[in-house]
Amino acid sequence: MSYPRLEIDIKKIKYNADKMIGECKNRGIDVAAVTKGFCANENITKALIESGVDILADSRIQNLKKLSGFNIPKMLIRIPMLSEVSDVVKYSDISLVSELETSKKLSSEAIRQNKIHNIILMVDLGDLREGIFYEDEIYETVKDILLLKGINLLGVGTNLLCYGGVIPTKDNLSKLVNIKKKIENDFNINLKVISGGSSGTTHLFKNNEMPEDINQLRLGCSLTMGIGLNDDPIEGLYTDALKLVVEVVSIKPDKTVICAIGRDDVNPNYLIPNDEYIDIIDADSDHLILNINECTNNYSIGDKIKFNMNYGAFLSTMVSQYVHKVCI
Ligand SMILES: *Cc1c(COP(=O)(O)O)cnc(C)c1O
Repeated sequence: MSYPRLEIDIKKIKYNADKMIGECKNRGIDVAAVTKGFCANENITKALIESGVDILADSRIQNLKKLSGFNIPKMLIRIPMLSEVSDVVKYSDISLVSELETSKKLSSEAIRQNKIHNIILMVDLGDLREGIFYEDEIYETVKDILLLKGINLLGVGTNLLCYGGVIPTKDNLSKLVNIKKKIENDFNINLKVISGGSSGTTHLFKNNEMPEDINQLRLGCSLTMGIGLNDDPIEGLYTDALKLVVEVVSIKPDKTVICAIGRDDVNPNYLIPNDEYIDIIDADSDHLILNINECTNNYSIGDKIKFNMNYGAFLSTMVSQYVHKVCI
């Protein structure tokens, strides 16, 4: 076996996905599984599809391209680059857009590829990352988008908790619902989708505060890591489906242990040792340094040490080509 390794417990992920998808379905909400957090890993994606997700979503076209073998709608969730519109139309069925100019480009590209491309117009409810902020501008943009050939305005959406850290609430999401209703009335159209946000929105389930009309969520870390708003654990989900396992390569007389993983692979502050008596001291680009003075376990050279991880650690070890990914 090769180390360092990222152990992915597919059963636990599937359990999380079953639970979250069940909760969503009960409320008439479709789930777009966000695959960017695990680089669109094929085994994880398969498990999520088995659990019944409706859409695969990613911020990177390369990942959507990798997923093109899965016969399920794909959605690009990062604001599309003008330079990638041809791939956007080719590899995604839906994209989240914030700009009329980009919509026009998507339109000419869709016509060229003889396709209908679906767009969800993003509304900025105060987070200041993506979407249109001023309400008048939203309706102006809709008017122009409806004139575009090759484009279907599928609905509206929002993204919170990112730049401005605005927390999703019944109030701010109801604003989105009202905007959708006004668009439907003013333009005499039906909008199929209101895309209400990410895993950080699911806390609204608890007190039944999710506005009824929200019918899509884009879920990443809740499915894989069992976490939601503020990275807090979601009740009833596994938060330990992913483990990093590293090998001890040296032990010093003062009980300082050196392991073969470094900052090139992961930020040591993002790791939580399973042995609670281990203290993480530091890391350089290739070595992780631990203090085992308080440990009751004995460690020897060649032993393996396990860590839980936060989202950042999961992503960086997933991206690192030096960390072996093993599904168990
Ligand atoms: C990453 C992302 C998500 C998923 O976020 P999680 O917190 O992992 O659920 C949803 N929507 C957008 C636009 C994203 O960029």
